[in-house]
Amino acid sequence: LKKDEEELIFRSKLPDIYIPGHLPIHTYCFQNISKHSTRPCLINAANGEVFSHADVKITASKVAAGLNKLGIQRGQVIMLLLHNSPEFVFAFLGASYIGAITTTANPLYTPEEIEKQATISKPHLIITHSIYVQKAKGFAQQNGVKIYCIDPPPEGCFHFSELTQADEESMPLVPLVNIQPDDTVALPFSSGTTGFPKGVMLTHKNLVTCVSQQVDGENPTLYVHPEDLTICVLPLFHVYSLITVLLCTLRVGAAILIMQKYEINALMENVQKYKVTIAPFVPPILLAIAKHPLAHRFDLSSVRRVVCGAAPMDKRLEDAVGGKLPNAKIGQGYGMTEGGVVSMCLGFAKDAFKFKSGSCGTVIRNARMKIVDPQSGLSLPNNRPGEICIRGDQIMKGYLNDPESTKRTIDRDGWMHTGDIGYVDYDDELFIVDRLKELIKYKGFHIAPAELEALLIAHPSISDAAVVPMNDDAVGEVPVAFVVRETGSKISEEQIKHYISKQVVSYKRINRVFFTDEIPKAPSGKIIRKNLRAKI
Ligand code: ATP
Ligand code: MG
Repeated sequence: LKKDEEELIFRSKLPDIYIPGHLPIHTYCFQNISKHSTRPCLINAANGEVFSHADVKITASKVAAGLNKLGIQRGQVIMLLLHNSPEFVFAFLGASYIGAITTTANPLYTPEEIEKQATISKPHLIITHSIYVQKAKGFAQQNGVKIYCIDPPPEGCFHFSELTQADEESMPLVPLVNIQPDDTVALPFSSGTTGFPKGVMLTHKNLVTCVSQQVDGENPTLYVHPEDLTICVLPLFHVYSLITVLLCTLRVGAAILIMQKYEINALMENVQKYKVTIAPFVPPILLAIAKHPLAHRFDLSSVRRVVCGAAPMDKRLEDAVGGKLPNAKIGQGYGMTEGGVVSMCLGFAKDAFKFKSGSCGTVIRNARMKIVDPQSGLSLPNNRPGEICIRGDQIMKGYLNDPESTKRTIDRDGWMHTGDIGYVDYDDELFIVDRLKELIKYKGFHIAPAELEALLIAHPSISDAAVVPMNDDAVGEVPVAFVVRETGSKISEEQIKHYISKQVVSYKRINRVFFTDEIPKAPSGKIIRKNLRAKI
């Protein structure tokens, strides 16, 4: 703990390092490629196809030339409406080479959602799968935008391979573009958990910093080496996978195993078949492994690191899944679209530190964190929960076309207010309590849904659960639970209420239980509480 301009500031236990923030992200990622150019980089689980690091670099530069030929310029946007695929990687890096910007969207979004993102981000080109062309067609036709498909295209669209047909021998590969560190390169949208998804401008410097904070230095925070195989099952359209899976892997010369979609059996089969060593996951995947009746039939012993992030993972879940992954260290990272990785488990470092289960790690190196009392705005000492604020070069340039929201999120001194409540314990480990917006307000008390959800999920008869507020005239809000029973279980509302009552103070008791077949969740594992709130 250090005093800095009268504020209580938390720093990493790892020293600051030199970060080459002046480099474009592609140059930075390929900086050490000569050491591992022939090693595998992308392995496509769908067909076993392998691309070396050199293949990826060459194909990406061909795409750059192809995009350039189509007239895409520095500062212009292309849109990827793709599941995980090698083409996603080629297109993202290709656009980066020419100073263009990639906006990524979930291909499973509705046509309205996609049209909205396209209208805000104004892409000059869309790359997708043929089955999703319909969703983007309206926007494309109105704006004269071409659609490329990575599989056989329908009438009026083009094949992705046309972009890579530029011949690297005979033409200057990549046009010379004057890329600045503060140029936007990625335009992901936040998950829309608490409102509409917001377009987030991430610059070359932001991404270089975020990758470097994780995998650079003599003692990297997240130690990944060229022999590692990282499984890429989380969607690349989300920053977690884009940065921690893809860009970190490229930087260190490791390989990634691309799974187009998540399915638990295929996932475990792939881990066993390819001997995956690093597994960036989200809590629902860990829950699925922990609760899978046949998980012990798969050999998951190759996994040495499980990184969990995007949503709260309780201690009990961490312990439950530990038994299924005998050689894995399981820890958390905490981050957000706007702020990259904020904290990471130091048990993942090359020279690992001890860590506690349930913690979200320690603030990332080359950054500053403070915990702020939402009422007074004062920074708080260890063990006092408040809003997590973070400062560093990894923080976004701002929200697209929204200076007002940007100002509300990043203050004058450069602190980004995360909207998450947490505290730092005496070992400098961060614990997240919940989102500021989602705390349930019972008279003067605050109840964190995440705490009750963790208790519910730990019950053997409950397979999943979510807690939301219900209005109450007497006390303001009370917590109510949506519960998915384990198959065959007949557990009752009374039994569940009793089970919780035994473990919490009276005001945290669950007021009602609604049984349901499924908890609505985003692909990143976040509970979509607004859908549940709408039901009551
Ligand atoms: P929106 O901002 O549009 O409402 P979102 O905040 O869910 O959506 P993301 O940027 O994808 O969009 O998610 C970041 C949020 O995810 C964080 O602010 C935090 O609430 C949550 N989160 C990320 N990692 C963790 C973690 N390890 N534990 C708990 N929560 C986490
Ligand atoms: Mg958010």
